[in-house]
This record gives sequence, structure tokens and C-alpha cells, in this order.
Amino acid sequence: MAATRLWHRTGRLLEIASAFGPWPGVYSTSPAFAEVLRMPQKQLRKVVYPLRELEQHLVTDSRPGLIEQRLFDPSLEDIGRAESVFAATVRNRIEYLSSAVRLDHAPSLRQPEVCFIGRSNVGKSSLIKALFSMAPDVEVRISKKPGHTKKMNFFKVGKHFTLVDMPGYGYRAPEDFVDMVETYLKERNNLKRTFLLVDSVVGITKLDNIAIEMCEEFALPYVMILTKIDKSSKGYLLKQVLQIQEFVNTQTQGCFPQLFPISAVTYSGVHLLKCFIADITGSLK
Ligand code: GDP
Repeated sequence: MAATRLWHRTGRLLEIASAFGPWPGVYSTSPAFAEVLRMPQKQLRKVVYPLRELEQHLVTDSRPGLIEQRLFDPSLEDIGRAESVFAATVRNRIEYLSSAVRLDHAPSLRQPEVCFIGRSNVGKSSLIKALFSMAPDVEVRISKKPGHTKKMNFFKVGKHFTLVDMPGYGYRAPEDFVDMVETYLKERNNLKRTFLLVDSVVGITKLDNIAIEMCEEFALPYVMILTKIDKSSKGYLLKQVLQIQEFVNTQTQGCFPQLFPISAVTYSGVHLLKCFIADITGSLK
């Protein structure tokens, strides 16, 4: 039934895509959504709905319902509409705004804000680049040199929202956090959602736990993104997803119960994440 609906919608969108030619503002660095819609059904499901794809491989007695928390399950039309929020055009300027080392240096903005946090090397820059792949002029700045000051980088996404790339936390995390990340998370008034990146190959580390505890302590609404899902076999990924899902279900209060598995290499899950961000920031009105 769901598959039929999916195919009905896909067929409809394909008609729309072919009627209008290439989608406006879509650049070649990411598979434009119209191209994704032309993929065979199995591949399309893997790219657009990675959790659904994983669910296919659940054996019936393996803790039913554990990854069935699909609270956010938009149609292909909705995902297609959200793409335009992330496509840079003259009327929808997507640009780097500024960097800050302290919250009082951060731009004062009214529009909703989302931030991305995660330990160094988790794949944060790669994900942000993937989100901005239809805004080729945006440079995602990376400052990885040891001793180089790490900053919060602010990006404006049209009139919709700002996206903040927070410094990655490493073994020197506590200092960075107290000075910057913690204050930002605690005091940023327009912060709508925090996206916490966890490496799906590694699982939740001690450093991730510090960030989770912080989000919990400040009662922030946050969302867990599982990165690099292209790196593991389906079996290993499923095991990791089930473990992390169980952790979220039993150990957290503020974490959105649905995980977002993504790959910045295959773009799997990236379109769905864009749609979620567009939705929670009210960009789809
Ligand atoms: P950051 O330190 O969190 O910003 O991490 P980066 O985005 O720089 O990524 C760290 C390393 O992981 C780089 O070598 C990336 O090429 C690699 N990487 C990032 N995302 C992915 C992914 O989705 N799949 C794979 N296979 N590698 C990734």
C-alpha cells in the first residue's frame, strides 16, 4: 500500500519534472532531486528513506518497533518542495554570514536557527557541504589545524533560517565547550533545534555522551544524525542503528525519537534531513 502510494507520487513528480525540464537553481554537485526521482524504486528508497530501507532487513523477532519510529515521514512532494529552500537563487540567497568565538560576537538574528555539533572527524563539514550542494558559492570553512581557533560559523539560508556549524569537539573539548558551545546552547534565544552528529561506524562515544548530557541538561530539543552510513555493511549498520535507537528511547528525554542516518558520499538521507530542517524552521509555509 505504502509502496503503491510512493510510486503514484513518484510517477506524478516525474510528470512534473519532465514537464518543466531541469529544476530551477539545481546544480550538478548533488544528484538533483528530479534525478533521484528517476532512480529505480529500490535505489530511490535507499537514497531518500534510508530507515525504511533498513527496516526491510529487520527479522520479525528483533525487538519490533525499535526503528519504526517514523514520526517524520514526508511525501516525495514535500521533500521536493524542501529542496527549493536549499537552492540558491537571486531571491533565495544562501551565504556565509560570519564567524564568532563568543556568543556576544554572534550575529543578532530573529529568524529561526539550527546548529550542528559533533566530535571532530564525525563528518560535520561534509554533511553541511552536502546540505549546501545547491548553493555552490557557499564555502564551508574548516579550521582543523591544531592550535587554530575554532569558531562558530553562521550561514544564512534565504529568509528562512540560519545554520550554525559549531566547532568540532575533540580531546580538548571541555575548554571549547565551556567557552563557546555550552554558552551558545544555553543562551541562544532563536535556536530551534540542535543536530548532534554521531559516527554510525563508531557509535556513541564518551565525547558524544558529554554533548548528549549537555543537551539534556539544558532541555534542548535535539536530533541525532548518524553519519557515514555508506561505510558499513547493512548488517553492521542495522546493529548500530538498533543500539543507538534503544539508547535514545531509554536514556534521553529531549532527543527526537527518530534517527536520521545519512551519507555525505551517496547523499542517502540528505534530502529527508533537508525536508526536516525546512519543516521545523517553518520554511515550507
Ligand atoms: P568533520 O571534522 O566533522 O567536519 O569531518 P569531515 O566532514 O571533515 O569528515 C571527516 C572524514 O570523514 C573525511 O575524510 C571525510 O571525507 C569522511 N567522511 C565524511 N562524511 C562521510 C560519509 O558520509 N561517508 C564516508 N565514507 N566518509 C565520510
